[in-house]
Amino acid sequence: MDRIFSGIQPTGDLHIGNWLGAVQNWVALQDQFDCIFCVVDLHAVTMPYDAPLLAQRTRDMAIGLLAAGIDPSRAILFVQSAVHQHAELNWLLTTVAPLGELERMTQFKDKTGKLESVPVGLLCYPILQAADILLYRADKVPVGEDQVQHLELTREVARRWNAAFSPESPWFPEPQPLLTPAKRIMGLDGHAKMSKSLGNTLGLMESPDEIWQKLRVAATDPARVTRKDPGTPTLCNVFTLHRYFSTPETVAEVDVKCRTAGWGCLDCKRRLADAMIETFRPIRSRAEELKADPARVDAVLADGAERARAIAVDTLQETRRRMGFFGAS
Ligand code: SF4
Repeated sequence: MDRIFSGIQPTGDLHIGNWLGAVQNWVALQDQFDCIFCVVDLHAVTMPYDAPLLAQRTRDMAIGLLAAGIDPSRAILFVQSAVHQHAELNWLLTTVAPLGELERMTQFKDKTGKLESVPVGLLCYPILQAADILLYRADKVPVGEDQVQHLELTREVARRWNAAFSPESPWFPEPQPLLTPAKRIMGLDGHAKMSKSLGNTLGLMESPDEIWQKLRVAATDPARVTRKDPGTPTLCNVFTLHRYFSTPETVAEVDVKCRTAGWGCLDCKRRLADAMIETFRPIRSRAEELKADPARVDAVLADGAERARAIAVDTLQETRRRMGFFGAS
Protein backbone atom coordinates (compact mmCIF):
# COMPACT_ATOMS: atom_id res chain seq x y z
CA MET A 1 0.00 0.00 0.00
CA ASP A 2 1.39 3.42 -0.94
CA ARG A 3 2.36 5.68 1.94
CA ILE A 4 1.14 9.25 2.36
CA PHE A 5 2.58 11.97 4.55
CA SER A 6 0.93 15.29 5.30
CA GLY A 7 1.23 17.94 7.99
CA ILE A 8 -0.73 20.82 9.43
CA GLN A 9 0.44 23.78 11.50
CA PRO A 10 -0.63 24.00 15.16
CA THR A 11 -2.83 27.04 14.75
CA GLY A 12 -5.28 25.90 17.45
CA ASP A 13 -8.81 24.93 16.50
CA LEU A 14 -9.51 23.78 12.94
CA HIS A 15 -11.19 26.32 10.69
CA ILE A 16 -13.29 25.59 7.64
CA GLY A 17 -10.40 26.49 5.33
CA ASN A 18 -8.11 23.74 6.59
CA TRP A 19 -11.01 21.34 7.14
CA LEU A 20 -12.42 21.62 3.59
CA GLY A 21 -9.00 22.15 2.02
CA ALA A 22 -7.10 19.30 3.68
CA VAL A 23 -8.51 17.42 6.64
CA GLN A 24 -11.72 16.12 5.02
CA ASN A 25 -9.50 14.66 2.33
CA TRP A 26 -7.15 13.09 4.90
CA VAL A 27 -10.07 11.35 6.55
CA ALA A 28 -11.05 9.77 3.21
CA LEU A 29 -7.45 8.80 2.39
CA GLN A 30 -7.16 6.69 5.54
CA ASP A 31 -9.07 3.93 3.77
CA GLN A 32 -6.86 3.90 0.70
CA PHE A 33 -3.30 4.51 1.90
CA ASP A 34 -0.82 3.97 4.70
CA CYS A 35 -1.28 7.45 6.19
CA ILE A 36 1.03 9.48 8.41
CA PHE A 37 -0.33 12.81 9.65
CA CYS A 38 1.66 15.29 11.66
CA VAL A 39 1.09 18.50 13.59
CA VAL A 40 4.10 20.43 12.35
CA ASP A 41 5.16 22.54 15.32
CA LEU A 42 8.77 22.86 14.09
CA HIS A 43 7.40 24.68 11.05
CA ALA A 44 5.27 26.94 13.22
CA VAL A 45 8.29 28.50 14.91
CA THR A 46 9.75 29.82 11.64
CA MET A 47 7.55 32.92 11.96
CA PRO A 48 7.07 35.03 15.10
CA TYR A 49 4.71 33.11 17.41
CA ASP A 50 3.35 33.06 20.93
CA ALA A 51 5.56 30.57 22.81
CA PRO A 52 3.29 30.21 25.88
CA LEU A 53 0.44 29.14 23.58
CA LEU A 54 2.32 26.74 21.30
CA ALA A 55 1.80 23.54 23.31
CA GLN A 56 -1.92 24.17 23.83
CA ARG A 57 -2.44 25.06 20.18
CA THR A 58 -0.64 21.89 19.20
CA ARG A 59 -2.93 19.79 21.38
CA ASP A 60 -6.00 21.68 20.16
CA MET A 61 -5.10 20.99 16.55
CA ALA A 62 -4.66 17.30 17.35
CA ILE A 63 -8.07 17.34 19.05
CA GLY A 64 -9.58 18.93 15.95
CA LEU A 65 -8.05 16.27 13.72
CA LEU A 66 -9.26 13.42 15.92
CA ALA A 67 -12.74 14.94 16.22
CA ALA A 68 -12.90 15.42 12.45
CA GLY A 69 -12.27 11.72 11.88
CA ILE A 70 -8.55 11.00 11.88
CA ASP A 71 -8.50 7.52 13.35
CA PRO A 72 -5.32 6.43 15.18
CA SER A 73 -6.16 2.79 14.46
CA ARG A 74 -5.94 3.51 10.71
CA ALA A 75 -3.37 6.31 10.55
CA ILE A 76 -0.37 7.56 12.49
CA LEU A 77 -0.99 10.96 14.12
CA PHE A 78 1.83 12.66 16.01
CA VAL A 79 3.56 15.93 16.81
CA GLN A 80 6.60 16.68 14.66
CA SER A 81 8.97 17.84 17.44
CA ALA A 82 8.38 14.59 19.35
CA VAL A 83 10.31 12.74 16.63
CA HIS A 84 13.77 14.34 16.67
CA GLN A 85 14.78 12.60 13.48
CA HIS A 86 12.90 15.31 11.52
CA ALA A 87 15.41 17.90 12.67
CA GLU A 88 18.39 15.63 12.04
CA LEU A 89 17.35 14.67 8.52
CA ASN A 90 16.59 18.33 7.88
CA TRP A 91 20.23 19.13 8.62
CA LEU A 92 21.54 16.34 6.40
CA LEU A 93 19.36 17.55 3.53
CA THR A 94 20.58 21.14 3.83
CA THR A 95 23.83 19.85 2.35
CA VAL A 96 22.18 19.19 -1.03
CA ALA A 97 19.32 21.73 -1.05
CA PRO A 98 19.78 24.45 -3.68
CA LEU A 99 19.92 27.97 -2.19
CA GLY A 100 18.71 29.70 -5.35
CA GLU A 101 15.51 27.66 -5.45
CA LEU A 102 14.84 28.26 -1.76
CA GLU A 103 15.12 31.99 -2.31
CA ARG A 104 12.68 31.79 -5.21
CA MET A 105 9.91 30.07 -3.21
CA THR A 106 6.74 32.14 -3.45
CA GLN A 107 5.80 31.60 0.19
CA PHE A 108 9.28 32.67 1.32
CA LYS A 109 9.01 35.88 -0.68
CA ASP A 110 5.49 36.55 0.63
CA LYS A 111 6.46 36.00 4.25
CA THR A 112 9.75 37.90 4.17
CA GLY A 113 7.89 40.97 2.90
CA LYS A 114 6.29 41.24 6.34
CA LEU A 115 9.52 40.89 8.35
CA GLU A 116 12.25 43.39 9.21
CA SER A 117 14.82 40.65 9.71
CA VAL A 118 14.54 37.30 7.92
CA PRO A 119 15.33 34.19 10.00
CA VAL A 120 17.25 31.42 8.22
CA GLY A 121 14.60 28.95 9.43
CA LEU A 122 12.09 30.58 7.13
CA LEU A 123 14.38 30.08 4.16
CA CYS A 124 14.93 26.46 5.16
CA TYR A 125 11.21 25.72 5.74
CA PRO A 126 10.92 23.72 2.48
CA ILE A 127 13.97 21.61 3.47
CA LEU A 128 12.24 20.67 6.70
CA GLN A 129 9.18 19.77 4.64
CA ALA A 130 11.39 17.58 2.46
CA ALA A 131 12.75 15.94 5.62
CA ASP A 132 9.20 15.33 6.91
CA ILE A 133 8.24 13.52 3.73
CA LEU A 134 11.50 11.69 3.00
CA LEU A 135 11.90 10.50 6.59
CA TYR A 136 8.95 8.18 5.96
CA ARG A 137 9.92 7.60 2.32
CA ALA A 138 6.37 8.60 1.44
CA ASP A 139 5.14 7.79 -2.06
CA LYS A 140 2.51 10.50 -2.27
CA VAL A 141 1.72 13.83 -0.70
CA PRO A 142 -1.73 15.41 -0.81
CA VAL A 143 -1.10 18.95 -1.94
CA GLY A 144 -3.05 22.12 -2.52
CA GLU A 145 -2.06 24.42 -5.32
CA ASP A 146 0.03 26.59 -2.97
CA GLN A 147 2.19 23.61 -1.95
CA VAL A 148 3.08 22.25 -5.39
CA GLN A 149 6.28 24.33 -5.53
CA HIS A 150 7.45 22.99 -2.15
CA LEU A 151 6.80 19.40 -3.19
CA GLU A 152 8.83 19.97 -6.33
CA LEU A 153 11.68 21.14 -4.07
CA THR A 154 11.35 17.90 -2.07
CA ARG A 155 11.64 15.91 -5.29
CA GLU A 156 14.69 17.95 -6.29
CA VAL A 157 16.33 17.38 -2.89
CA ALA A 158 15.65 13.63 -3.15
CA ARG A 159 17.16 13.56 -6.65
CA ARG A 160 20.26 15.49 -5.57
CA TRP A 161 20.78 13.39 -2.45
CA ASN A 162 20.36 10.14 -4.41
CA ALA A 163 22.80 11.36 -7.07
CA ALA A 164 25.39 12.32 -4.43
CA PHE A 165 25.16 9.37 -2.05
CA SER A 166 23.25 6.57 -3.70
CA PRO A 167 23.58 6.77 -7.48
CA GLU A 168 23.31 3.01 -8.06
CA SER A 169 20.17 2.39 -6.02
CA PRO A 170 18.18 5.53 -5.18
CA TRP A 171 17.31 5.55 -1.50
CA PHE A 172 14.71 8.30 -1.36
CA PRO A 173 11.65 7.97 -3.58
CA GLU A 174 10.58 11.14 -5.39
CA PRO A 175 7.15 11.66 -3.86
CA GLN A 176 4.29 12.28 -6.24
CA PRO A 177 1.65 14.94 -5.68
CA LEU A 178 -1.74 13.54 -4.87
CA LEU A 179 -3.88 16.12 -6.56
CA THR A 180 -7.30 16.47 -5.08
CA PRO A 181 -10.14 18.69 -6.26
CA ALA A 182 -8.93 22.21 -5.53
CA LYS A 183 -10.70 23.69 -2.55
CA ARG A 184 -9.14 27.05 -1.95
CA ILE A 185 -11.39 28.48 0.69
CA MET A 186 -11.58 32.24 0.77
CA GLY A 187 -11.77 34.04 4.09
CA LEU A 188 -14.97 35.67 5.30
CA ASP A 189 -13.58 39.01 4.11
CA GLY A 190 -13.80 37.61 0.58
CA HIS A 191 -10.35 38.99 -0.27
CA ALA A 192 -7.75 36.32 0.55
CA LYS A 193 -7.41 32.64 1.34
CA MET A 194 -8.86 31.78 4.75
CA SER A 195 -6.00 31.99 7.23
CA LYS A 196 -5.68 32.39 10.97
CA SER A 197 -2.97 35.00 10.50
CA LEU A 198 -5.38 37.15 8.46
CA GLY A 199 -8.17 36.90 11.05
CA ASN A 200 -10.74 35.91 8.40
CA THR A 201 -11.51 32.38 9.59
CA LEU A 202 -14.56 30.55 10.82
CA GLY A 203 -13.72 27.75 13.24
CA LEU A 204 -15.39 24.36 13.46
CA MET A 205 -15.45 24.60 17.24
CA GLU A 206 -17.14 27.99 17.39
CA SER A 207 -20.54 28.16 19.03
CA PRO A 208 -23.69 28.50 16.88
CA ASP A 209 -23.94 32.15 17.93
CA GLU A 210 -20.29 32.85 17.07
CA ILE A 211 -20.80 31.25 13.65
CA TRP A 212 -23.83 33.43 13.01
CA GLN A 213 -22.13 36.62 14.20
CA LYS A 214 -19.22 35.99 11.83
CA LEU A 215 -21.39 35.05 8.86
CA ARG A 216 -23.72 38.04 9.38
CA VAL A 217 -20.92 40.42 8.45
CA ALA A 218 -19.19 38.22 5.85
CA ALA A 219 -18.49 39.78 2.45
CA THR A 220 -21.05 39.17 -0.31
CA ASP A 221 -21.49 40.23 -3.93
CA PRO A 222 -20.93 44.01 -3.67
CA ALA A 223 -23.66 44.57 -6.30
CA ARG A 224 -26.29 43.74 -3.66
CA VAL A 225 -26.27 47.15 -2.02
CA THR A 226 -29.95 47.00 -1.05
CA ARG A 227 -32.32 44.07 -0.70
CA LYS A 228 -33.88 44.90 -4.06
CA ASP A 229 -30.60 44.68 -6.01
CA PRO A 230 -30.13 41.34 -7.78
CA GLY A 231 -26.77 39.61 -7.27
CA THR A 232 -24.46 37.15 -9.01
CA PRO A 233 -23.97 34.12 -6.76
CA THR A 234 -20.75 33.06 -8.44
CA LEU A 235 -19.18 36.32 -7.27
CA CYS A 236 -20.11 35.64 -3.65
CA ASN A 237 -18.12 33.60 -1.16
CA VAL A 238 -21.30 32.81 0.79
CA PHE A 239 -22.61 30.98 -2.27
CA THR A 240 -19.34 29.03 -2.55
CA LEU A 241 -19.75 27.96 1.07
CA HIS A 242 -23.38 26.94 0.45
CA ARG A 243 -22.04 24.50 -2.13
CA TYR A 244 -19.96 22.80 0.57
CA PHE A 245 -22.51 22.82 3.38
CA SER A 246 -26.04 22.95 1.94
CA THR A 247 -28.13 20.45 0.02
CA PRO A 248 -28.27 20.70 -3.81
CA GLU A 249 -31.87 21.94 -3.47
CA THR A 250 -30.78 24.79 -1.21
CA VAL A 251 -27.89 25.67 -3.52
CA ALA A 252 -30.36 25.89 -6.44
CA GLU A 253 -32.69 28.02 -4.32
CA VAL A 254 -29.84 30.37 -3.35
CA ASP A 255 -28.90 30.74 -6.99
CA VAL A 256 -32.42 31.79 -8.02
CA LYS A 257 -33.20 33.99 -5.02
CA CYS A 258 -29.88 35.81 -5.31
CA ARG A 259 -30.27 36.53 -9.03
CA THR A 260 -33.89 37.69 -8.63
CA ALA A 261 -33.41 39.55 -5.32
CA GLY A 262 -35.93 37.06 -3.95
CA TRP A 263 -34.36 37.33 -0.52
CA GLY A 264 -31.81 39.37 1.34
CA CYS A 265 -28.25 38.38 2.08
CA LEU A 266 -29.08 37.89 5.76
CA ASP A 267 -31.77 35.29 4.84
CA CYS A 268 -29.20 33.55 2.66
CA LYS A 269 -26.55 33.62 5.38
CA ARG A 270 -28.97 32.32 8.01
CA ARG A 271 -29.57 29.22 5.89
CA LEU A 272 -25.81 28.75 5.54
CA ALA A 273 -25.25 29.21 9.27
CA ASP A 274 -27.88 26.55 10.05
CA ALA A 275 -26.28 24.09 7.61
CA MET A 276 -22.82 24.70 9.05
CA ILE A 277 -23.99 24.36 12.65
CA GLU A 278 -25.57 20.99 11.82
CA THR A 279 -22.45 19.79 9.97
CA PHE A 280 -20.14 20.75 12.83
CA ARG A 281 -22.37 19.48 15.66
CA PRO A 282 -20.90 15.94 15.86
CA ILE A 283 -17.34 17.21 15.40
CA ARG A 284 -17.78 19.80 18.16
CA SER A 285 -19.27 17.22 20.44
CA ARG A 286 -16.32 14.80 19.93
CA ALA A 287 -13.88 17.68 20.40
CA GLU A 288 -15.50 18.68 23.69
CA GLU A 289 -15.15 15.10 24.97
CA LEU A 290 -11.47 15.09 24.01
CA LYS A 291 -10.82 18.53 25.51
CA ALA A 292 -12.20 17.23 28.79
CA ASP A 293 -9.65 14.41 28.72
CA PRO A 294 -6.29 15.87 27.58
CA ALA A 295 -4.38 12.87 28.98
CA ARG A 296 -6.19 10.65 26.46
CA VAL A 297 -5.18 12.97 23.61
CA ASP A 298 -1.57 13.08 24.80
CA ALA A 299 -1.51 9.27 24.96
CA VAL A 300 -2.75 9.03 21.36
CA LEU A 301 -0.02 11.46 20.27
CA ALA A 302 2.66 9.63 22.24
CA ASP A 303 1.65 6.34 20.63
CA GLY A 304 1.66 8.03 17.21
CA ALA A 305 5.13 9.44 17.85
CA GLU A 306 6.42 6.02 18.84
CA ARG A 307 5.09 4.43 15.66
CA ALA A 308 6.48 7.29 13.54
CA ARG A 309 9.84 7.10 15.31
CA ALA A 310 10.14 3.40 14.55
CA ILE A 311 10.07 4.20 10.83
CA ALA A 312 12.15 7.38 11.16
CA VAL A 313 15.00 5.68 13.07
CA ASP A 314 15.42 3.09 10.31
CA THR A 315 15.37 5.69 7.54
CA LEU A 316 17.88 7.90 9.31
CA GLN A 317 20.19 5.00 10.10
CA GLU A 318 20.35 3.99 6.44
CA THR A 319 20.71 7.63 5.34
CA ARG A 320 23.63 8.11 7.72
CA ARG A 321 25.19 4.85 6.53
CA ARG A 322 25.01 5.89 2.89
CA MET A 323 26.47 9.30 3.78
CA GLY A 324 29.43 7.53 5.42
CA PHE A 325 28.97 8.61 9.04
CA PHE A 326 31.11 7.08 11.76
CA GLY A 327 29.22 4.34 13.61
CA ALA A 328 26.39 4.16 11.07
CA SER A 329 27.39 1.01 9.20
S1 SF4 B 1 -28.02 36.46 -1.64
FE1 SF4 B 1 -26.54 35.00 -0.86
S2 SF4 B 1 -25.29 34.43 -2.63
FE2 SF4 B 1 -26.39 36.33 -3.17
S3 SF4 B 1 -24.95 37.97 -2.65
FE3 SF4 B 1 -26.29 37.66 -0.90
S4 SF4 B 1 -25.18 36.23 0.43
FE4 SF4 B 1 -24.28 36.14 -1.61
